[in-house]
This record gives sequence, C-alpha cells and structure tokens, in this order.
Amino acid sequence: MGVEFIYPEFEVVRNYDRCIACRVCERQCANDVHALSVERGVMISDETKCVDCQRCVSLCPTRALKIVKSDCTLRENANWQNDTIKEIYKQANSGSVLLSSMGNPKPLPVYWDKILINASQVTNPPIDPLREPMETQVFLGKKPSQTERGKDGKIKCELPPQISLSLPVMFSAMSYGSISYNAHASLARAATELGILYNTGEGGLHEDFYKYGKNTVVQVASGRFGVHEDYLNAGAAIEIKMGQGAKPGIGGHLPGAKIVGDVSRTRMIPEGSDAISPAPHHDIYSIEDLRQLVFSLKEATQYKKPVIVKVAAVHNIAAIASGIARSGADIIAIDGFRGGTGAAPTRIRDNVGIPVEMALAAVDKRLRDEGIRGNVSLVVGGSVRSAADVVKAVALGADACYVATAALLALGCHLCRTCQSGRCNWGIATQRPDLVKRLNPDIGSARLVNLMTAWRHEIMEIMGGMGINSIEALRGNRLMLRGVGLNEKELEILGISHAGE
Ligand code: SF4
Ligand code: SF4
Repeated sequence: MGVEFIYPEFEVVRNYDRCIACRVCERQCANDVHALSVERGVMISDETKCVDCQRCVSLCPTRALKIVKSDCTLRENANWQNDTIKEIYKQANSGSVLLSSMGNPKPLPVYWDKILINASQVTNPPIDPLREPMETQVFLGKKPSQTERGKDGKIKCELPPQISLSLPVMFSAMSYGSISYNAHASLARAATELGILYNTGEGGLHEDFYKYGKNTVVQVASGRFGVHEDYLNAGAAIEIKMGQGAKPGIGGHLPGAKIVGDVSRTRMIPEGSDAISPAPHHDIYSIEDLRQLVFSLKEATQYKKPVIVKVAAVHNIAAIASGIARSGADIIAIDGFRGGTGAAPTRIRDNVGIPVEMALAAVDKRLRDEGIRGNVSLVVGGSVRSAADVVKAVALGADACYVATAALLALGCHLCRTCQSGRCNWGIATQRPDLVKRLNPDIGSARLVNLMTAWRHEIMEIMGGMGINSIEALRGNRLMLRGVGLNEKELEILGISHAGE
C-alpha cells in the first residue's frame, strides 16, 4: 500500500577519517544497516533499519560511529506530536495493531522520584553498615499473626513454606523463548550465587536448568506451556500469572517463528506454531476458582512450595489483593504499568494500568486494615530501577521487589525497544543462534551478581543512614518517607507526609 515516507528516526554518523572499512559493524548488525559499497570502496548505511541498539558503536574498533536521534521533525504541535503522527501513518499502511516492547515510555509520573528517604541526625544515630550488623535477608510466605505454644509450653516454630532471599530482590518472569537460552542461564546462575530467585516466565523450564531449581520460581500462566508435575516440583515456588503490568487484561503471543528447537520442546508445543496465552485462565472466573488452582498446585507439590499470584496493578487492586490473600496464596506479586515485556500492543502498554507505587500503598493499607497482612507477602515490580527504589518500596510495605529491565541492562540491553523483532543484537531477546552466542553466560551472570551486590551495599548504606538495621524494621515504615510535588490525594494514597511536615 502507498507509504508516506517518514524520515528515519536515527542517523548513523560515520567519521570517514577514522573508518578503516573493517566491516565489523556490518557483521554485528542483525538489522542490515551497514554495508560496504564495492563501487565507492566505503561503508554506507541504510538508516531506515536502524533501531539505535548501539551494538556497532560499542564494537567499532576506531570509534568511527555514533548514532544520533534525527532532528528532522514532522510539523508537530502540542496535540499532534511526532510519534502520534508516525503511528497513524504506520497503521494506515498496515491495518495492524501496533506492537512494542519494554515498558511504558510516556511522561507519566514516576512516584519513586517524588518520594524522598529520611536520615538520622542527632537523637537516633545512624548505623555504620561496615562495622555493625545489618540484615538484608527476607523470608517470603505466610506468617502467623501471633505466636502459639504447644502442650509442652514451647513456642511452635513451624511455618508454612517460605522463600529465603539474601536481599529483597528477585529476577522477575522472562520466558525462555522471549529471551535466549544464554540470558536464562545468566539469570539462573546469578540467582543461585546471590541466594535469590529468578523466574521461568510462562515458557516452561529447559531441562538444563532443573539444577537451579532451589533458586527458581516456576510460572503457571493461562497457556500452561511446559507445565507438568516435574516442572512444578522443580522450583522453590510456583507463580500463577493472572496479569502483567505491561499488558493488563490481555494474553500473550510468541510468534511461531520463535518456537524452534528447544523452545518448542520446553513449551511442549509444535515447532512453528504460535504460542498464544489466552487473556483469562479458562478455569478462573472468581476468587473461589483461583483458590482451586492454588490448592491444586499445592496438592501436586505436597504443600511444600509457596504459591505466588501475580497480578497487574489496576484500578481496584486493593480489593483484588484482599481476595487473593484469602485464596490460600502465600505471596502476591503486583506488576505496575511501567513493567517491561518482550512484546505488547502499544496502546495497551501505554494506557492501561496504574503506577505500582500507588497500588502497593493501597494494597498494604487494605490488608493491614482487614487484619490479613500476615496472610501474604507482597512483591512489587514494574520498573524498579535502583537500590533506592527497593528501599522506598519496602518502606511503602513491600516484602521484596521483582526486577527485570535492570537485569537485562546488566546483560547488555541498550533499551532499543525492539525485542518483538527477534533480532536482538545483544543476544538477549532472540533465538537466532548467531546472536544468542554473543551473550556469554559466564560474563552475564558475573555482571548480574555485581549489580545485585552493589544494590545490597547501597540498601545497607541507606538503611544505616536511617538508623535501621534490618529490612524487617524498614517494611511498611512510611514515617521514613516524604513526598515532594505531590497533591493531597496522592499523599493520602501513598500514606506519607509532604517534605517539611
Ligand atoms: S566498525 Fe567502525 S571502522 Fe569498522 S567499518 Fe564499521 S564504522 Fe568503519
Ligand atoms: S533486549 Fe535486546 S532487543 Fe530488547 S530492548 Fe534490549 S537490546 Fe533491544
């Protein structure tokens, strides 16, 4: 169909004084941006294909390349902006739903950045984490609301199954199929070394990764891909995925082109067939139905594993969480509207859901008001970007955070936001063997361990500054938080005072 020519979004700037025509950029680019012009004897670029993944820039041996955002703009105004106009052109051309990846990029409020943390000064001295004990370990699972003594007078110490984490962070769900074997291997190895958990996502568990089971959350999503008894028993916890922050209310779709070899075997579906997860679980239409699945999974694993129920942060999240806390689930994971994804319809990603900060504060309050906070642990995700975000989340009531995008960045992701193409030049969101091998799991896992070790040190420093020496004492301690630039309603929902109060 006729195409409105749209000037490329990025420009390849090549310094010909430096370029030695070594063709590294040509070999490294899965999008075929670079080529040698035999006629002219110089490298040339097709900028219409560039996604600004920065692979060529990073590997050019002479620093001859840079990619810049084009300053050629359409005649935009405050209402009709560049991206909006381009999307209209694309849809008029294709008639298709627009697809994107990673999280919501819109300039909506990031509440983490409007919350500031307290520090001790005179009366309650800070704690030096290098010289004094500091506890970052957390246990996720149901906690008794009171201590009980047995007939012998001793306190009963038996708890329902718990997950132990050396710091309040887990790697969140990313399926084998949406990310590569080497990305999964990096996450599994790093989680094991760190004493935390990673998450299979909805793609099943590759046979090579069963050995990391103690550090694995195995997910059960609506498509039930790769779910069987051994799989359920392999993990340390089971997660029922009811929703995802990047695409609340809709299912998932991994194109048949990505269902090849081991991905097809692990998912237990034929090669080349699209992996479509329905929007609802076809056996869950109420909290009672959810309870049935929670207990079926517990039954299948001899009541030895905690069950997580993951939901997207949506308008009535507090009431939803209250129901889940009564369903027998041990942990609720809440995924905010900035959460990443390998592929989502752009309109859904950018317009559906609510910020996880608001959802967390509302859920924690509701569960405490109803006296059922101990029924479940709370895990939040959806763009937790730093140790400071983790500390703020815990102070707002979370027991732990899920991180995914930050983990992918540690593996080399440059946030080019084209995971759905399957041509990830960094070997992460791809199944192409030539691209997968670019990510070395030895290096990948070491970088993830470094990132989390750095975060753990920062968490200890921030807590020490507050005069707090354990995550347990920080959890739900909203007195440690102040808001800036927030209105009364926002402060009320977050349950915090304004700076200066
Ligand atoms: S990698 Fe750098 S030096 Fe090599 S051809 Fe490309 S731009 Fe030239
Ligand atoms: S994972 Fe790869 S394709 Fe996806 S945003 Fe990161 S660099 Fe781009």
